Amino acid sequence: MTDYVIIGDGISGSSAAETLREEDPESSITVITDEGESLYNRILIKEHAKGKLPEAPISIHDEEWYEERDIDLSLNTHVTTVDPDEKIVHTHEGEDITYDKLLIATGGTPTQLPVDDSDAEGVHHFWTFQDARRIRESAEAAENGVIVGAGLLGIDFAAVCGAQGVEGKYLMRGDRWWRYALSGDGAEIMHEGMREKGVEPVFDSGVDHFETDADGQVTAAVDPNGERYECDFAGVAIGLTFNTEFLRGVGLEMNNGIVVDEFMQTNVDDIYAAGDITRFYDVLLDEEAQNGSWGSAKEQGRVAAVNMAADDEDEVFEWVSSYSITHFDFPFLSFGHPTLGDEHVERRYSDTEWRRIAIKDGKIVGGVLIGDLSPQRTLKQLMREQRDIGEQAEVLLEPSVEIDDLAPAQSQEQ
Ligand SMILES: Cc1cc2nc3c(=O)[nH]c(=O)nc-3n(C[C@H](O)[C@H](O)[C@H](O)COP(=O)(O)OP(=O)(O)OC[C@H]3O[C@@H](n4cnc5c(N)ncnc54)[C@H](O)[C@@H]3O)c2cc1C
Repeated sequence: MTDYVIIGDGISGSSAAETLREEDPESSITVITDEGESLYNRILIKEHAKGKLPEAPISIHDEEWYEERDIDLSLNTHVTTVDPDEKIVHTHEGEDITYDKLLIATGGTPTQLPVDDSDAEGVHHFWTFQDARRIRESAEAAENGVIVGAGLLGIDFAAVCGAQGVEGKYLMRGDRWWRYALSGDGAEIMHEGMREKGVEPVFDSGVDHFETDADGQVTAAVDPNGERYECDFAGVAIGLTFNTEFLRGVGLEMNNGIVVDEFMQTNVDDIYAAGDITRFYDVLLDEEAQNGSWGSAKEQGRVAAVNMAADDEDEVFEWVSSYSITHFDFPFLSFGHPTLGDEHVERRYSDTEWRRIAIKDGKIVGGVLIGDLSPQRTLKQLMREQRDIGEQAEVLLEPSVEIDDLAPAQSQEQ
């Protein structure tokens, strides 16, 4: 009987546990998480923070789910070290858990702003359900808010401010939101969306330091230009620091995340990794890539489990991810790796409709759609097929795009 140990009960760890039980019914499976609750929908916690969704629908697995599958779940348990020679996982309570095969699915922790008083009361980071509960409570009582971090998570804070009636200032470096993936035209639609929610984008800004009152509650953020923004609520989303500190000495290859191949194998025997924490070999891009999204993490967990159970390189991770934002009157979707292109084509169709496609070596590697998401199926399929777009990039900007609108793929063989 094989002993599988999974560290992390987020979507990647949980999907691996489910797959392992299906693939290897006789095995022993242990899932360890330092959170106090089993798998919940991390994507939906923002709706809770906005005050729109009660707690119940956010939970995905109750403890019975694990019992029914004979999966041993350890809540509130932090893994402190891993011994790859003895194949033992050590926990903060001094427990030693042996494994035959180990999956690391520990994700990341929001990075704290390296400025004074970034740990003040009222300054929030957003990752766990507990964070969402605190954010909700704090936003409900707040009048003014400040948001830092012009990316996909920062905008969730802007939406929380909007939904909770907090007058928000969104302090950004540079001249626009998500400047690595959006041009001025695309970003302007997002800025208008924020303004309609009562959140004002502030450009060429950021936080130099926070100010607090005598009780340690945040009262203002001061930006590098010396501008002072009063706030009793602040949301910081400047990136993730991957949870790898417990892996010191294990000998895993790291490169801002754990390096895995397309089978989710690390360089250390019988240790796999899945989810946000991986820097994986992307077979579509033909290079290492990283991806912080729910669907990708779930699929990586499943593929890792298939290969762990097979004790072989049975299945390759091949995936086009997507990440949508539903806070505004118009839909928004980013797919693939929109920041990686060496060439881009884009078009604005109306005040709320815009499209940009990132192309690398003649192939689609990602894109952003605002307003009309209908081309996503075709664009993702072209990316999956690694179709050479050649001179046809402008066709991808036609209001409606079908696979048949493009000339057939050139044969690779000459
Ligand atoms: C507010 C918010 C909104 C999001 N919105 C979207 C969205 O709209 N679309 C989308 O695709 N993605 C979204 N994401 C991202 C998505 O949720 C993540 O990509 C996904 O959940 C990653 O899953 P994971 O299993 O890799 O890691 P995680 O979900 O981070 O799980 C890792 C788990 O491991 C635990 N852990 C870490 N270290 C240890 C240790 N040493 N011992 C024991 N346990 C440990 C952690 O506590 C955590 O529970 C959002 C994320 C957040 C926070």
